[in-house]
Amino acid sequence: MAYNVVLLPGDGIGPEVVAVAREVLQHVEHHSAGGLGFQLETVDAGAGRWRRTGSALADPDFELCRTADAMLLGSMGLPDARHPDGREAGSDVIFRLRFELDLFAGVRPVKLYPGAPSPLREPGPIDYVIVRENTEGLYAARPGGSRVEGEVAADTSIITRSGTERIARHAFALAGNRAGQHRVTSVDKANVLGSYAFWRSVVERVSSEFPGVALESVYVDAAALYLVQRPRSFDVLVAENMFADILSDLGAATIGGLGLSPSADIGADQGLFQSAHGSAPDIAGRGIANPHATVLSVAMMLGWLGSRNDDPAATRAAGWIDDAVGMVIASGDGLTPDIGGSRSTAETAQALLLALDAVAAA
Ligand code: ATP
Repeated sequence: MAYNVVLLPGDGIGPEVVAVAREVLQHVEHHSAGGLGFQLETVDAGAGRWRRTGSALADPDFELCRTADAMLLGSMGLPDARHPDGREAGSDVIFRLRFELDLFAGVRPVKLYPGAPSPLREPGPIDYVIVRENTEGLYAARPGGSRVEGEVAADTSIITRSGTERIARHAFALAGNRAGQHRVTSVDKANVLGSYAFWRSVVERVSSEFPGVALESVYVDAAALYLVQRPRSFDVLVAENMFADILSDLGAATIGGLGLSPSADIGADQGLFQSAHGSAPDIAGRGIANPHATVLSVAMMLGWLGSRNDDPAATRAAGWIDDAVGMVIASGDGLTPDIGGSRSTAETAQALLLALDAVAAA
């Protein structure tokens, strides 16, 4: 099948890592021998565009995104590109795509590839997924909230029954299909806030629709502790927008950092794929950005396209990429400085493409 994929390289290291993703897609297409094709369209969006034009994403480009088969995003945001109230202009793009395309499920795998540097003494095989509710919670207040005379600021968290049901169903379905422990851990703060007690009761009710999947509920502070103490015990976690945002960075730290952490924002009809990291302005332009997180996001994209379109070629290609990343990390060569190596982005890309060629030919 041929897929129309919109690339949004964005700011900082975004264009550097998306360039690697593009090469990976080209290699995949080559190895698929006609079974899989990509029509790639690049869109100028992000904080750089906002600074030049006053808008982070043009309306026609939003339309391109809306009608594409999938979107692959680099990273958005520059430290000094901010709205008067302090919000980052680059985030406008991600929030617009998430809210207007209703990409309600943030899917963030946390997997330790053998050879990746974990700061945990005995990390063991870490392999779980954080499912983030993407459209509600505290972040739903953006860009609203109340500001009074420079003296008071308030943001309201929103938890709805339908929003909680659909994210819970997404998490339970994922846990049912994964080769894991078939368990969902729901994260909340039901002991302090009524909105989270409501969240918990809705998740518990949804759980009865999935008899093959176990449910446990933990408070968010305990979840932070357990993700460090016993990360192996998790399979699928589901949480409100901000909690999951924070916990997924914690999870990323345990498996080698943001440079190894992919993510997907999934809706009923659309999928946006991007690394978990930001634009990393401290290393932008130095040629040392780790492209693995974005390349793994490409694998997620192909996996999603494969199951959505019943397309075994895309599913197989997702496996190739995952295996190639595993090979490069296990080899200990071709690693960028953030994960203990001394290679450049280009050298890592080269190692990845060679590994991909080997995997696809096997
Ligand atoms: P955001 O708020 O947009 O998520 P941030 O400012 O919190 O972004 P990042 O831009 O993700 O954070 O960067 C955090 C740190 O991780 C920086 O020191 C950055 O250099 C490093 N980092 C992030 N991504 C990568 C990468 N792909 N390769 C190497 N280092 C990275």
